[in-house]
Amino acid sequence: MANLSLKHIYKVYPNGAKAVNDFTMEIEDKEFIVFVGPSGCGKSTTLRMIAGLEDITAGELKIGDLVVNDVEPKDRDIAMVFQNYALYPHMTVFENIAFGLRLRKMPREEINRRVQEAAEILGITEYLGRKPKEMSGGQRQRVSLGRAIVREPKVMLLDEPLSNLDAKLRTQMRSEIAKLHKKLGTTFIYVTHDQIEAMTMGTRIVVMKDGFVQQIDTPKNLYNYPGNKFVAGFIGTPQMNFFEGTLKKVGDFVEVAFKYTDAKVVVPYFYFYKTRPSYLDGKTNVIIGLRAENVSLDPAEVANSNATIKVKISHKEELGNETLIYGDINMDGDGYTESSTRIIIKSIDEVEYTAGDIVEAALDLDHVHLFDAATEISILPRIPEFNYLDCEVHGRTLTFLGQGVELPPAIVCESGVGELLIPSDAIKLGGDIVANVIGTEVILGKKLLSMELGGRRIFAVVDEEVTTPTVNISIDMKKITLLRDGKEIVSPMPETVSFDGNLTKKKVVEDVPETEEERAKRLAKGKKDANAEGEENAAAEEPVRTKSKKVVKFSLKIEGAEFPAPDEIAQKLIAALTIKRVFEKDYRFECTPYDLTIAEEGIEAHVEGICDYGAERFAKCTVGEKVIYIKLDDSIATLPKSIHLVPDIEKLAIIQADMDIRLV
Ligand code: ADP
Repeated sequence: MANLSLKHIYKVYPNGAKAVNDFTMEIEDKEFIVFVGPSGCGKSTTLRMIAGLEDITAGELKIGDLVVNDVEPKDRDIAMVFQNYALYPHMTVFENIAFGLRLRKMPREEINRRVQEAAEILGITEYLGRKPKEMSGGQRQRVSLGRAIVREPKVMLLDEPLSNLDAKLRTQMRSEIAKLHKKLGTTFIYVTHDQIEAMTMGTRIVVMKDGFVQQIDTPKNLYNYPGNKFVAGFIGTPQMNFFEGTLKKVGDFVEVAFKYTDAKVVVPYFYFYKTRPSYLDGKTNVIIGLRAENVSLDPAEVANSNATIKVKISHKEELGNETLIYGDINMDGDGYTESSTRIIIKSIDEVEYTAGDIVEAALDLDHVHLFDAATEISILPRIPEFNYLDCEVHGRTLTFLGQGVELPPAIVCESGVGELLIPSDAIKLGGDIVANVIGTEVILGKKLLSMELGGRRIFAVVDEEVTTPTVNISIDMKKITLLRDGKEIVSPMPETVSFDGNLTKKKVVEDVPETEEERAKRLAKGKKDANAEGEENAAAEEPVRTKSKKVVKFSLKIEGAEFPAPDEIAQKLIAALTIKRVFEKDYRFECTPYDLTIAEEGIEAHVEGICDYGAERFAKCTVGEKVIYIKLDDSIATLPKSIHLVPDIEKLAIIQADMDIRLV
């Protein structure tokens, strides 16, 4: 029983294949986690790194409270079940299950007890005397599960354990494994390429593609709130319908136009509050996603809907309890080819359709999904990145949603109207603005507060739940963006500072205290000499001496300035095994404006000016070509033209530049 922590885990194989990138996840004790994705996406590699069967290139893996990067597989307290069972053919089922315990020299009675108990849980007690070849695939997989169970591991790892079984047995074993998980109360991590297996078994699912985690969430949330088109299409059968289209805001409404057809629906703007307005220009291509059950041919629903489109029916698939109707929203489309006009509709009514029928379909836009056509990332996110508002600047006052806010000295802009982007994490609790509370929703551990202000809904990510009917808020002005005629006239202050550099190593001569051993040796020798002279030697009072020694020192060379690297950081960099020649590589060092201090020596920076955001002040500096910001203490009133900066080494992210691997 254990929780696991994976922090910035990477795997680069010796041939240069980057199989896993920046895998970060906290797994709670007793969770059933499923890694799912198409073949080659890196799921087995991740599992094998947890098992200790593959080295971790970079990152930190903890099982319980222990960092296990360098711990042998046998000492990790995990058990693994493989697709091919890996049973010994010459041993009986009992011997196969007991094998690992015997290797550990466990007492005979304890082995018997554990094997019997596991066999009972798995329903294979009567087969304990058989050889594996006398058993079916399902039974063999039970034996291999048994062998894992008797180890009583903290974590069970299962790599596609059911893919050798036929469909019926797979379904049965699926529920047996889920039951087993409940019974054992152990953390399970399960790898599969089958999304149905993932959806039915996992308490949380990690969807992977091309070595990158796409999304981590519960089955239900992945289905309802896919973060990108890949997840939307991968999870759920039949696959979500995807249409190309454009969105155009006209007053308080938005026209959704489908490409390659004249289909168009008009919906209230509030559906798109979380969408960046630049997508609502009627020109930018977007992808519109609707699941088969969110389209209806039911005449009553069609009659009541104000979002209907024409569909030309092509064929159907009877699934018993429901029927999938295939069609096309392009009257010239065939309904068979997967295209951006083909549509699949889940129908429960009894109406018979004939190929070529043209019918009206109602779209349930409460469940619409929208994706950027190029990046395929959701443009209707659950947690909106920004609040998109109309605004006006008049002198030093910024007005939005009926509120007037004084602009801090750091923000300079001419009077006029514009668009204001306030990040949802830039609205803080406490302040002069009073908003009506709609509610707080907890999404992936974050609290999203919905409020009403000046007739509009606004969103804030907050630290504490708000239960009062109204709330006082303020805006973190360093995070806002102001657009005029589509051009950015006020930009947010960058939240990260990035430097270039590398790692250096040198041998230096240093005075170091003698070791216990050296001291003992020296004292023994001194005693002998002293005895020869017939004098007493007060060994206990003899002070520890220092010795000059050659020691290896590691330094971070950041923008030409050298900083000693703590051993722990140096070791992490060197431990990135497949990246040879650590010392010749280029690194990127990242921190925040809060992690830099001004000192006598350090990174040379030229001060461009002081940005006063009211509550906080920052110095805008250049380091070479780079523009960076540093937080200023209240005590600092003025700055010379040239200053030196020291980063907080503990807070630095160190990224190997050409492979883009975060090492620390
Ligand atoms: P999955 O389990 O999702 O099918 P894997 O984790 O097995 O994917 O593989 C991820 C990627 O790493 C693939 O591109 C694969 O070709 C590559 N890979 C896996 N094992 C090795 C290896 N031993 N050496 C080099 N590349 C490998």
